[in-house]
Amino acid sequence: MAYDVIIIGGGHNGLTCAAYLGMAGLKVKVLERRALVGGAAVSQEFHPGFRNSVAAYTVSLLNPKVIADLRLHDHGLKIVDRRAQNFVPSPDGHYLLAADGQTERHIAKFSARDAERYGAFNRDIDVAANVLRELVLQAPPNLPAGSSIGTIRELIRVGVFGNKLRRLSTENLRMLFDLFTKSAGDYLDGWFEGGLIKALFGFDAVVGNYASPYTPGTAYVLLHHAFGEVNGKQRLWGHAIGGMGAITQAMAKAASQHGVEIETNAAVREVLVEGNRVAGVALQDGRTVKAPKVVANVNLKLLYTSMLPEGALDPDFLRRMRNWRCGSGTFRMNVALSSLPSFTALPGRSVADHHTSGIIMAPSLAYMDRAYGDARRLGWSTEPIIEMLIPSTLDDTLAPAGAHVASLFCQHVAPQLPDGKSWHDYRDQVADLMIDTVDRYAPGFKASVIARRALSPLDLEEQFGLLGGDIFHGALTLDQLFSARPMLGYANYRGPLKGLYHCGSGAHPGGGVTGAPGHNAAQAILADHRGWSFFK
Ligand SMILES: Cc1cc2nc3c(=O)[nH]c(=O)nc-3n(C[C@H](O)[C@H](O)[C@H](O)COP(=O)(O)OP(=O)(O)OC[C@H]3O[C@@H](n4cnc5c(N)ncnc54)[C@H](O)[C@@H]3O)c2cc1C
Repeated sequence: MAYDVIIIGGGHNGLTCAAYLGMAGLKVKVLERRALVGGAAVSQEFHPGFRNSVAAYTVSLLNPKVIADLRLHDHGLKIVDRRAQNFVPSPDGHYLLAADGQTERHIAKFSARDAERYGAFNRDIDVAANVLRELVLQAPPNLPAGSSIGTIRELIRVGVFGNKLRRLSTENLRMLFDLFTKSAGDYLDGWFEGGLIKALFGFDAVVGNYASPYTPGTAYVLLHHAFGEVNGKQRLWGHAIGGMGAITQAMAKAASQHGVEIETNAAVREVLVEGNRVAGVALQDGRTVKAPKVVANVNLKLLYTSMLPEGALDPDFLRRMRNWRCGSGTFRMNVALSSLPSFTALPGRSVADHHTSGIIMAPSLAYMDRAYGDARRLGWSTEPIIEMLIPSTLDDTLAPAGAHVASLFCQHVAPQLPDGKSWHDYRDQVADLMIDTVDRYAPGFKASVIARRALSPLDLEEQFGLLGGDIFHGALTLDQLFSARPMLGYANYRGPLKGLYHCGSGAHPGGGVTGAPGHNAAQAILADHRGWSFFK
């Protein structure tokens, strides 16, 4: 079989890209190393009768155009709302609940001033999130050097982008600048005085981001978690029935329906290069598959530092990719529970709104700052940051009746432990710490744990190819965003060799289950395939 395109990796972006290319009539082959497609967005049984999302665990950023174009709902995807968005308990028995029509009342328990400012804060985040929404489904300006027609075209695109920004008021521009450059801590301190309200938003700034909330640039990561929606309701997070694997199973069906061949247990060893262009791939099992276009869904640092023949890349390009910052500081657990947790701050073991929400156990920005400092010094935080979701409160396909599954998303741990220690030797100790931490907020939680599965940063790297456990395929910092993702001059989804493309989270707009890099890469590949990009 002759293929037009080979995609390395069947993560959600690889599948999205494949589906768009298949729809356009191209012959596409997806090669996935693991036994199942979906990458970080998969569901699996982790204990007999208990099933859950394995890595990514909650949905919001998945682009509505991707959902519609791939007809994911027709392929079985159903996304449901949480009954409340977030619950932030504190160990001293107070709590904040963020839920439709109730949030201001809860904020006012701690500060009338914060409650008054909450609406204006949200309006600002909405303005900024709208700017992002306009940018996610298009390639950023590529900023190449020179004076070719291609350069002029990119300069025009810079102008179009500048013109979009010019339409914002000066105050909104200042706010946008703050969100792209400031620390989340400084930004939130400028708005609020209460610890729990700042923790509610501060969590989004450190999730998957190995940094203190007071590290400059973290305000952007907060914003990155705000451009999504659930069933048309902006900035909400929801649940995919069956877990995140339901998204990628629907994507795989969409791709297959359009003739895409998907092969699992097919690890790519090397991209084949002839002259200055790609010619296909060599697999670990010794086979080769030829195609004039090869698209990388894998982490780009992995691609460029281990999957290309020596000498194929310009040394400066390779040096930059070796320095690409990957490492999330994330520890992920699934637990099977005999009963729902009862929180000291809001007791009760029957399903209530807060049980369906993202439960954030990290009561202040200072706590988060300490967690980061600990992890830098010791390898993990003595008091970690945990978001817990209990998706079985919204989805009865995940656990036996009366029992539950919980996702624990824990920050901060060091991507690599100090003094050459291996995460494989410390995973269980840190997993115990995570369970004990939840138990401090919900006594009896530990006793309700029937089984658990933990993934350290090293497990995420070994099992999913996420270097340093980086959930975004590379830090979302200003030097690695937009026209600089993955590098100035390569932001248009095309790599440094002819026929080589980027469709994973290492390309704009970055990580999260968005489908956006896959969508955008497909546009670039189709333009080249049809000869529309002759100016490049
Ligand atoms: C623990 C965790 C929690 C997260 N939580 C959320 C969340 O709740 N919501 C959200 O929106 N996002 C979340 N994210 C982020 C999100 O899941 C990722 O950014 C996104 O799934 C990445 O998708 P991708 O398709 O770009 O890459 P990936 O999903 O990483 O896919 C890359 C694929 O390439 C394959 N591969 C690797 N090497 C090879 C090889 N040599 N040959 C062939 N195939 C190969 C991998 O197996 C994988 O399937 C989370 C991520 C993690 C890890």
